[in-house]
Amino acid sequence: MSASWVETTRQVTARAGSRCEYCRMHQSLQGATFHIEHITPRAAGGSDAADNLALACPSCNLGKSDRVRVPDPSTAEAVPLFNPRTDLWADHFA
Ligand SMILES: [Zn+2]
Repeated sequence: MSASWVETTRQVTARAGSRCEYCRMHQSLQGATFHIEHITPRAAGGSDAADNLALACPSCNLGKSDRVRVPDPSTAEAVPLFNPRTDLWADHFA
């Protein structure tokens, strides 16, 4: 891992305020190191630049293909399926 990637990781983490950019969970609440995710996958030509990167907790990173967000039928805006403020993990993922 290059020094510049370490620096990019720092930047992305700071920009996200150490919160998962999908579920807004703070890194300190998860007790795990969050992942730096490529918004456009590298396989699809996405770059390692900070503007193509997002901070994601392991749950969101691994669950992205399981539709972490779905389009809201009324606004067509992507909305999280899981609300960490009001839902309990155990209930939501039962
Ligand atoms: Zn998350």
